[in-house]
Amino acid sequence: MDKYTLLPEQLLYEGTLTAAQFFTAQPLTEEAILRTHTQAYWEKLRDGGLSRKEARAIGFPMRPELVARGRVIAQGTLDCARFAFRDGVALNVAGGTHHSFADHGEGFCVFNDIAIAANELLSTGEVKNVLIVDLDVHQGNGTARIFREEPRVFTFSMHGARNYPARKEKSDLDIGLPDQTGDELYLTTLHNHLPGLLDGLRPDLVFYLSGVDVLATDKLGRLAMSLQGCRERDRYVLENCRSRNVPVAVAMGGGYSDRLATIIEAHANTYRVAAGLYD
Ligand SMILES: [Zn+2]
Repeated sequence: MDKYTLLPEQLLYEGTLTAAQFFTAQPLTEEAILRTHTQAYWEKLRDGGLSRKEARAIGFPMRPELVARGRVIAQGTLDCARFAFRDGVALNVAGGTHHSFADHGEGFCVFNDIAIAANELLSTGEVKNVLIVDLDVHQGNGTARIFREEPRVFTFSMHGARNYPARKEKSDLDIGLPDQTGDELYLTTLHNHLPGLLDGLRPDLVFYLSGVDVLATDKLGRLAMSLQGCRERDRYVLENCRSRNVPVAVAMGGGYSDRLATIIEAHANTYRVAAGLYD
């Protein structure tokens, strides 16, 4: 959990961002939650009514603070999308909780922030179609399931084929990578798919889930990417969006390297790349 405070501190300390470039999100409204999550699941979260089994699937003891935190994070991703309409890019220092389904959470994910933001923007008419580029090493199973029947949202997940979740959902495009995939194969695979998706779909908005659990040092990752390769991945995604004038909202996703400094460095790289590409 330390990364959520250390990352903004690092970005301010090194001068990649100024304090004026940060925003603080308010808690998401109940109405917005219910565009994505079921009434029954929301009521269990709100009233502390999850069973032990349901809480265990999420992975930590459920407390009111965690529900409140999840609401702020999800609103942060929605706010990022709206800032991206104005500025081209905006990044959430948390979020990317893609293992959350409409009616339950798992894998440390309570609310599905990107699904909530996408559904909200579709319902208000702010966007007509959305591309989700999920490059966290774990498949975006909750997101895939939520949008399985939604033609306006294209879900693209590139992930470790043998990694969690054992039972994958069906995204619009799934690329399962073998264990120990390194920079070269990873980046070639990304190059083979991303430009075609952007040109074919012409989305009004991209959500980019920039998990850094693709690193070789990651305890849960099983891939073999370097810090430099991960940074190049971020640069490639953002540059392809920027050159087509497609706004991109970034949510950070996972990162579980042994050394906290490695995690912060990899996440900070996403911001450094964005700061370099966008004025
Ligand atoms: Zn992950």
